[in-house]
Parts: sequence; C-alpha cells; structure tokens
Amino acid sequence: MSCETGFAIEIRERYQDVVADRWPAAVDPQPDELLSSWLHRLAIANGVAPQAFAGVLGLCGGMWSARLDLRLLQDLAAWLGARTDVAPEAISAMAMSDGALVPLWLPLRETARRSRSTWIQYCPLCLADDRAPYFRRSWRLASRISCFTHSCGLRDRCPACRAGIAPFAQTELVPQYVCVRCGFDLRGAAKISVEAVARRLETVDRRYLQGGNRQEFVGDPRMGGALAARSRRRRHRVRPAAHQPAGVGAHPLLRAARAKGRR
Ligand SMILES: [Zn+2]
Ligand SMILES: [Zn+2]
Repeated sequence: MSCETGFAIEIRERYQDVVADRWPAAVDPQPDELLSSWLHRLAIANGVAPQAFAGVLGLCGGMWSARLDLRLLQDLAAWLGARTDVAPEAISAMAMSDGALVPLWLPLRETARRSRSTWIQYCPLCLADDRAPYFRRSWRLASRISCFTHSCGLRDRCPACRAGIAPFAQTELVPQYVCVRCGFDLRGAAKISVEAVARRLETVDRRYLQGGNRQEFVGDPRMGGALAARSRRRRHRVRPAAHQPAGVGAHPLLRAARAKGRR
C-alpha cells in the first residue's frame, strides 16, 4: 500500500507481454468495406497516421493502401490477421480479388484533373449514415455512378478543393472522411442527382455483376443499341458534369455496345 496515494500498487505483467503481437485497438470490417478503408481505420484506431502506417507494414508511401486493394499477398494478410484478430480470409476478402471485375476497376490515379476519374468514389450520405464511416468496394468500380440507397450520384473528389480522395497520405490522426488537402468533411458534400437513364444502366450492370451472363447484355442488340445511342447523346452524365466520375465514359458495356454498332 502506498502511503501517499492510499492505493495498492502491485507489479503486473508488461503490456506488451499481455498483448504479444496483437495491436491494442480492434477494428471490425464493415459490409463491403474496401481493404484500404479498413487499414486507414485500423491505423488511426491504434494511434498511427495512415501515411506512417505504410512503414509499419514495410511498404513505401504513395498510394500504398490503394495498391494493396488490388494485390494483397497472403503473407501480409496472415501477418495482419495475427495482429488484429480478423481472419486472414476476411482481410483478403476486402481486396478487389475478383479477376472478372478487373476491366471495371477505376485506374489507380490520385490526381484529379477535371476530365479524368480518380481512383475511388464515395456517397456523402452513406458516409454520414455510417457509425464508423468507411469506403465501399463497389465505389472502386467505373460502372458504379450512383448510390442505390440514397439515389444520388457518387463523387470522386473533394467539392471544396477538387482534390482526389487520398486518406493514404494523411499525416494526422484524422478520419478518412476528412479531405487530406483542405480538411473538408466529405460527409457534408451536397447531394447530386443522377439521370434516370444512368440508373437504368446501373441496374443492368448490377444484374451483370450479380452473376449474369455477359452475352445476356452485351450480345443483346436491343440493349447494345440502346446503350450505344444513349452513350452518343451523352445523356448518361451525372449533373453537374464537374462532379461526374469520368470513369463512366469508359464503361465496358458501353464500349462493347459501340464496337458492336461499328461492325
Ligand atoms: Zn449512399
Ligand atoms: Zn479538399
């Protein structure tokens, strides 16, 4: 018993002996969460800024987490699993591992020139509704241009400074829904509308992604013709145009429909 404090003091195990290799804060993956999103949340929960967390994983900087989305080695998944109590299989499942969707991935591009898409999109309202805001795997797809839950267009940059979303470059303990460049809270971005035709295109795409036969859509002359015509008229654009993910124009179904029309 300490004379000064009145509290009993005893020698306990060292913290690091108790937790061994396990990191102190646990972060559960959310439904459809993208691996990089989980890594950013994991880093911050454990007191490490995302940019510095790349070093913890033995990686170089840049778009380190976005690169892991596209290629996560099993060794690293196992290493993360041992430190987080999340099964390596669950960690791997957050990566974009479905090879059939490769043509739909947005290019790994951080820069945000007006006419080009960035690497990821987001729905401000989804982020605002989340108890622990996170980025979805489906937001990495060029074919996704709207949120089915909120019936609004996805954004792919900060509305305040027009920079791309770059939580991997965050040097402070700041949540990933805060713009790295200007500090804008992305959850407060204004809702943008999507034309009905764009939503119809996505409905087709959703059926495709859920296991439909590619020929069912691309090979259907009615569908191909309709998509090509709408593409020519560029009526599938999200308004305002400055907010539209440029990846929409690269939609593989539209490309296939155009090619079919030229034959
Ligand atoms: Zn949403
Ligand atoms: Zn910004």
